[in-house]
This record gives sequence, structure tokens and C-alpha cells, in this order.
Amino acid sequence: MRDRWTKEELKATIDVYLQMHTLQQQGQSCNKKAFYRMLSEQFGRSEKAYEYRMQNISYIYLLHDRDWVEGLKPAKNVGRNVTSAIEEILAELENRPFNEEVPFEAQVDSYRQKQRKSLPEGIREPKSSFGKIVKYERSPEVKGWVLDRANGQCEMCKVPAPFKTKSGKDYLEVHHLIRLADGGPDIVDNCVALCPNCHRKLHYSSETQQLTQTLLDNLHT
Ligand SMILES: [Zn+2]
Repeated sequence: MRDRWTKEELKATIDVYLQMHTLQQQGQSCNKKAFYRMLSEQFGRSEKAYEYRMQNISYIYLLHDRDWVEGLKPAKNVGRNVTSAIEEILAELENRPFNEEVPFEAQVDSYRQKQRKSLPEGIREPKSSFGKIVKYERSPEVKGWVLDRANGQCEMCKVPAPFKTKSGKDYLEVHHLIRLADGGPDIVDNCVALCPNCHRKLHYSSETQQLTQTLLDNLHT
């Protein structure tokens, strides 16, 4: 069996997924098997292969915080290139911009799933690129490491994460203590995982400087 998915095949699969999603939203039933068979006859892969690819598409939906097609449980096991390709085609079909957070968050997930991890090197001098807003490159390993380190608990107030995400993970936000815009590095010693309250506090509190310094000191001892 061929391994590589052509863009045409991926696009046809995503197109069918969108049709099934629309049917679901309209409260209509859909015969998934018939759709898989149709794709199988057109492109020559097994019906299972299309079902699995659609579970990858559900995973992209999950990363967008959108409801996926019922019965197609998100399957994370999708490489970076395929994640980007799915997001690119979805964006095109939905007439919206490509969301770079999607492949980034997929990399964070895949890093967190790894069994043995060594301290990620991170990016000492994240480069910015110019668009409508300034963006900095970030290391998914650093974000994954920091979330693992926090282990479901805010690293500032030490209170457990306020809720679980749709994918069952503890919800915490990763914050750079020295902002990337101020020349801060994207390394684990410059990042903390925070509950939303503490995150806002660090941004807007009158005590931002002292709080930040305390967290930096804690990380370096
Ligand atoms: Zn907190």
C-alpha cells in the first residue's frame, strides 16, 4: 500500500469529514461506512485508513476547541507535517487563516506523550518575524516540559488547575517571566505554568515585578 497521502486524497477526506460534521450539526444521521467506502474506491486505501485519518482530523478539531464528528475519537498519533497539512486544507476550505497554534500544540502533546525526556534546550534567542503582529518562535518541548513540571498545579498559588480541558488535561497557561519581546529566552527556567488568575495577576498586578522576581528566584534555586 502506498504510504504517502497526496494533497488531493487528504483534501477529499477532509471534505467528506466536513460534510459529516455539517450533517451532524443539522441533526441528521450519516452513514460513515458509505463515506469510507466511497473514498476507498476512489483512492485505493482500506476503509479503516480513512476512518483513522478522520480521527486525526478530529484531533485538529480538538486543538481548535471545536466539537468533532461523533464516533470519531481524536487520534493524536499524527506527525507534524500531516497536522500542518490538515490545518492548511481546513483553513482553505473554511476560508480562514492558517492557525499556527495548531501544529505547535500538536507538538506539545506529542512531546508530553514521550516516555523519557531530557531537559529541552529551548531557544535562547527566539527570532521574531514580521507580520501584522510580531511573533516569536517557540519550543513545543519547553511548553510541554513546564506543563509536566507543574503537574496540574499552578506554580504560583500552588492551587490545582481550575478545570480539565476537553481532552482531559489540567488547564494551565504557560507564561514567560521575562517576555520574549524584552529579550527573554524560551527556556524552561524562564517559564511558569499558571492558573488563569495568577496569569492575569502577573500581567496586570501592581506587584508584577516582585512576583516575577520571586518566581524567577524559585526557578533558579
Ligand atoms: Zn495560581
